[in-house]
Amino acid sequence: MKFEVVIGLEVHVQLNTKTKLFCSCPTSFNEAENSNTCPICLALPGALPVINREAVHKAIQLGTAVGATVNRESKFDRKNYFYPDSPSGYQISQFYYPIVENGHIDISSRRVQIARAHLEADAGKNTHEAGGSKVDLNRAGTPLLEIVTAPDMRSSDEAIEYLKKLHSIVRYIDISDANMQEGSFRCDANVSIRPEGDEKLYTRVEIKNINSFRFIQKAIDFEVERQIEAWEDGVYEDEIWQETRLYDSAKNETRSMRGKEEASDYRYFPEPDLLEVRISEETVKEFSKIPELPHQKEERYQEELGLSKYDAGVIASSKELASFFEEILKSGASTKNSVSWLTVELLGRLNKKSLEISESPVNSQKLSDLILAIDSKTISGKAGKDVLDYLFENEISVDVAIEKLGLKQVNDDSAILKIIDEVLSKNPDKLEQYRNGKDKLFGFFVGQVMKASKGSANPQKVNELLKGKL
Ligand code: ADP
Ligand code: ZN
Ligand code: MG
Repeated sequence: MKFEVVIGLEVHVQLNTKTKLFCSCPTSFNEAENSNTCPICLALPGALPVINREAVHKAIQLGTAVGATVNRESKFDRKNYFYPDSPSGYQISQFYYPIVENGHIDISSRRVQIARAHLEADAGKNTHEAGGSKVDLNRAGTPLLEIVTAPDMRSSDEAIEYLKKLHSIVRYIDISDANMQEGSFRCDANVSIRPEGDEKLYTRVEIKNINSFRFIQKAIDFEVERQIEAWEDGVYEDEIWQETRLYDSAKNETRSMRGKEEASDYRYFPEPDLLEVRISEETVKEFSKIPELPHQKEERYQEELGLSKYDAGVIASSKELASFFEEILKSGASTKNSVSWLTVELLGRLNKKSLEISESPVNSQKLSDLILAIDSKTISGKAGKDVLDYLFENEISVDVAIEKLGLKQVNDDSAILKIIDEVLSKNPDKLEQYRNGKDKLFGFFVGQVMKASKGSANPQKVNELLKGKL
């Protein structure tokens, strides 16, 4: 039997507001334990929450970016459950009336519907040590935007493509640093299978909090395999049930964590301490302003700059890469060289060292200088690669690197002619043979001139001048 994979994703984006969702405590990282707290986020009796305008702003920006409906009225609800890192015994979330609904992100094979995006408060953190467990409430009350898709994806590849696009959008519109390792962009994957052609949804298993794209893919693939095996072994009903599983990257497997709650288990009810969120039309308009999005940049690069779809896609996929590229262009460097020196030479070297563009030892200013030197034929493309290698290891300017490596290209006719004359006078026998018809020796002369110039002569010029001379 053939199976179809069904995936729906929930992503928790930690919004980069200065303060928490319902109090004015800072959201800064790495502070002393429990120092970013107040009666509200400690959930002391009688303390009253107040909504953070900036969090609403950022939720609306995301809604705009994914073509969603921004609800002018939304509400908060209490989601009841107990964890030691949530002293209130409930989470304030938006269940019945989320702020954002019905958006989408297009991936290459289909449109993924975004059912909803709602605001909610994060919990604190428990750490378990040999001597006991600790609770740190610095993170409690930090604003999260939970973005939930319909069960629209049909493979782990599609899931990853969706996630990378969402990640890129979130960073472009600057609503979160979206750092996966630090938990600012957390993904839960809901996975089920069904016989191909079947329309109904089968039991979903939820895999929680996986912190890299690679692991999300592996976790989904493992889970699909597990479910198909259970079906084929005739034990699907017994082994696949609605539960939450954790992914163990060391063992590459998912393990049961707990039975999955139904919405009714949470006893949702309207949060009595908060007013409805009502937003005027003007405010929605004002809050909907967002910068150019990745897919818009991708199109513009193709239309205005003539980039290939592939190159435009690579550069526009990350905000940092795109601004790096635009800075290079601003310096007057040629588009063609800017694309290849950024995407092939610089990114190639960064990948080898597992560095991000933001960690590049060669900044956009230096790469511009290098490309300008190549554009103007001050150095050859080949020499450029040596210079770039050198810049990776040494904190010096492009000019100094070219000087140090002795790579300045010689374009001056008279200087090249001088070398040609020397080479010809040193090889009277070869010259004789050439004149008697041994054309192949032309390559020999070019080689000798290049060698005599230590590779610095402009090869095109050498060719031209040598031809004339011979
Ligand atoms: P909860 O918070 O309880 O997990 P949500 O409604 O927030 O509930 O999220 C449910 C997620 O599971 C959505 O992304 C939805 O698309 C997905 N989903 C629902 N049913 C299935 C299914 N049968 N297979 C795969 N994904 C599913
Ligand atoms: Zn607080
Ligand atoms: Mg879920």
